[in-house]
Amino acid sequence: MTDIGFREIILTGINASPGICIGKAYLVDREGVDVVKKYFISEDDVEEEIKRFKSAVNKAKNQLLAIMNNAPEELRDHAYILETHKVLLKDKMLYGKTIETIKNERINADWALKKVVSDVKSMFKKMSDSYLKERATDIVYVSDRIMMNLVGADTEKIADIGKRVILVAQDLSPAEASQINLERIKGFITDRGGKASHTSIIARTLEIPAVMGLGNITNIIKNDDLIIVDGTAGVVIIHPTEETLLEYGDRSVKYEELKAAITRDSHLKAETIDGFQLKVMGNIELPEEVVSVIDCGGDGIGLYRTEFQYLSSPILPNEYELFDKYKDVVEVIAPKPVTIRTLDINGDRAFINNPDYVEVNPALGLRAIRYCLKNPDVFRTQLRAILRAAAFGNVRILIPMISSYEEVLETKKILNEAADSLEKEGALFNRDVEFGIMIEVPSAVIIADILAGEVDFFSLGTNDLIQYSLAIDRGNRHVAYLYHSLHPAIIRMIKQLVDVAKEKGIKVFMCGEMAADPINMPILLGLGIDELSMNPQSIPAVKSMIRALKVEDARAFMKDVFKQNTASEVEKLVREAFGSILSEKVYAR
Ligand code: PEP
Ligand code: MG
Repeated sequence: MTDIGFREIILTGINASPGICIGKAYLVDREGVDVVKKYFISEDDVEEEIKRFKSAVNKAKNQLLAIMNNAPEELRDHAYILETHKVLLKDKMLYGKTIETIKNERINADWALKKVVSDVKSMFKKMSDSYLKERATDIVYVSDRIMMNLVGADTEKIADIGKRVILVAQDLSPAEASQINLERIKGFITDRGGKASHTSIIARTLEIPAVMGLGNITNIIKNDDLIIVDGTAGVVIIHPTEETLLEYGDRSVKYEELKAAITRDSHLKAETIDGFQLKVMGNIELPEEVVSVIDCGGDGIGLYRTEFQYLSSPILPNEYELFDKYKDVVEVIAPKPVTIRTLDINGDRAFINNPDYVEVNPALGLRAIRYCLKNPDVFRTQLRAILRAAAFGNVRILIPMISSYEEVLETKKILNEAADSLEKEGALFNRDVEFGIMIEVPSAVIIADILAGEVDFFSLGTNDLIQYSLAIDRGNRHVAYLYHSLHPAIIRMIKQLVDVAKEKGIKVFMCGEMAADPINMPILLGLGIDELSMNPQSIPAVKSMIRALKVEDARAFMKDVFKQNTASEVEKLVREAFGSILSEKVYAR
């Protein structure tokens, strides 16, 4: 039934997890955490206050354990997220600092925790790396849980919700999302959060629609309001009219049918109608994610981001720990390739361990290969681990953020030294690995002819290439409207790179998010990209799109693309030419 007397409201947010659901809103209550008061305690009460804090932390640990034990089967691969939260409970920055603050300032535990978290938040805010920003969010989730226990607020038990509803929350923590019962929760929408958040990853794994980053949806929607969530388009409709309800009912049925067909065919080759084949691989951050790549029909790992092992602990991982994880991935997916990208850290890491070291502009600072070349011991350790893992399957090495020829030479020198040292020790390893560089800085595109002589392949990191070419901080939502992968400058850069690479006889891959959107396929095929890599969940739709196209048409189409002046003109052109394929084959609009 339509809510009579209400006007239909359409809101747009971030399309965090695809699909459509229609149902009643259920507001998740988070009250209690924000109403903390400050008071001073006497010297004698300090120990008691610390005890109160510790017991709140312990309670939080037990709550997380219970959630982990009862999490749905589908989330088994994601247990590490809650495992990380459990570790964060005792993190020096949070746990140690709060106890110190209670002692030094003689204030109540709730206020001390609030103060510490606010310091951590402002420290992370200055960072440009979305990955590290996500770690700050984890600290906030963990501290919220401790705070709930401290103030005695009831933690909302999502697992106990007894009706079929759509969750509406300011934010959902991974712990809360892990309690989602698929028989009752149809989907969720939030004020905060984005596509890269763990919570949205969980939504995609559970295959429920989610729209995040809606601003203040919790102030607009009331309990039991009828809403439509279109997670594919990132749209939420409150008080839909009868007509809208019918339209979305139809769309939902079509979406489910198409999804079933795409999933069924995900193991077929990505081959165009006229017989052109390209490999579609998966991006991973953790060894556990290899399973998703295989399940989704990936032809290998096109990007293994290796930062997690360095960020999840205050101590640098040793060669054996690195080797152990790399070997797992390499063995599981062999003989398919694993592209291990060396450490892409951006100076913020030193900042975390050493608060005196602050990068004014971390994205342009001592990031990725620059950090590694300045810290050759750290780099050598990782390269040795990669070369050793290479003895167990098909490994490629990928170097991030190359901006000059010297960096490539210096990297190869250290790589050779690492191989020589392994040889001398008689270790089991393989020095015969393909060596590639990420193309994510404009200077690398411009000197591609020089770089080509030193490498086996280029891999386009469009997330950064767009950031550095269009001067848009990729984590800054105020300039997000300018961030377009179909900007004519980006398309021309890719063309320039591919032309040089073809002339020099080396391959061009793409592992940035641009590769994950089916709408970009006519252009990427037309430009002549050899291999794509993306988040595993996008693989089936991208393959389905490729199978519906002809490479010959895509190449001819490029002539018109190059005549366009803006990203919106390019997008319009693609939609005009390939719109029907998009809606029939991948349900993109
Ligand atoms: C990129 O920049 O496109 C990329 C794949 O690397 P990351 O997103 O890890 O910076
Ligand atoms: Mg990058």
